[in-house]
Amino acid sequence: MMTVYNFSAGPSVLPEAVLARAAIGLRDYDGCGMSVMELSHRSKQFRQIIERAEAALRRLMRIPDEYSVLFLQGGASTQFAMVPMNLSRPVAAAAYINTGNWSERAIAEGRLFGPVDVIASSADKNFRYIPRGCRVPPDAAYLHITSNNTLEGTRFADIPETGPVPLVADMSSEILSREIDITKFGLIYAGAQKNIGPAGLTAVIVRTDLVGRQTGNLPTMMRYDVHCEARSLYNTPPCYAIYVAGLVFEWLEQLGGVAAVAELNEAKARVLYDFLDESRLFGNSVERPDRSIMNVPFTTPSDELNEKFLAAAEADGLLTLRGHRLVGGMRASIYNAMPLAGVQRLVEMMHQFEQENSGSSHV
Ligand code: PMP
Repeated sequence: MMTVYNFSAGPSVLPEAVLARAAIGLRDYDGCGMSVMELSHRSKQFRQIIERAEAALRRLMRIPDEYSVLFLQGGASTQFAMVPMNLSRPVAAAAYINTGNWSERAIAEGRLFGPVDVIASSADKNFRYIPRGCRVPPDAAYLHITSNNTLEGTRFADIPETGPVPLVADMSSEILSREIDITKFGLIYAGAQKNIGPAGLTAVIVRTDLVGRQTGNLPTMMRYDVHCEARSLYNTPPCYAIYVAGLVFEWLEQLGGVAAVAELNEAKARVLYDFLDESRLFGNSVERPDRSIMNVPFTTPSDELNEKFLAAAEADGLLTLRGHRLVGGMRASIYNAMPLAGVQRLVEMMHQFEQENSGSSHV
């Protein structure tokens, strides 16, 4: 069978070793004779699963005790609403930095629940950069950033300093890909389906003193304090997804943790960007200091050539390289589980394609 590499932006590639272990747990968890999917979420086996997953994530990200770790449902999109529902203040605006499509979604949702102040935006250059040096209003309820922009291929290389204002980050497409200082953040959230595990699970890491300060009535399922109190077991959590996430965390620990995978991620991204910077056919238009090491958009000079490339890549086992429908072109998502060999294969194929189609140069 041909080895294929899956460059999907999410749901995306999972480590081979994790899939092999998950396949065992699918039939029989730890010799108990039941599938993980059949276990009661109140059973001792599932408690062990969720506690192990949380402990591993805490070790990996060095999450201090003052933070709660929640395993929720509803995707990152539900967090667009839960953040303002729980953290907004009637008198103070919530500050947002607009760095692309997912920021815009978060901002639109924020506006449903209170005043929003978009303190910076890179819309003027089609989101090809990350705004710098923004002044955060000292009385803002929070500052929300999308730390890695999955469609546009940008990331905050430096995390903004917000002083006493809680910093909230949508880290869906980069969580666990580089070392971060958790204490800079009030709240971090991430849909699991990129660097954590299967779709259906959302990780939230929240400084516990920010929890329980909501004004007015909220639906119970939308309250962080309820989920913190119940340790993610207020209702039935996404059990199987949490199990697989735990396996991914353990895989990452065996690899040497976040520092080790970050080094690998930098190496993978370098291979691809070095090629793009030399290429006469392919190009990436993101400002260099702001390039994402997780999502790398690129194009040829024409839609026709893009289509030809995508077909050739697919025939070569290089899958899901089509750019997001709002952006077009191509995008290689090179999350933690993408091996260096996959990126090298992609670059070899791009190189060959360039030689065969060298009539047109990139503009
Ligand atoms: N934020 C970012 C940065 C994303 O990449 C995505 C999904 N691709 C979302 C939010 C939305 O996530 P979900 O589909 O889990 O709601």
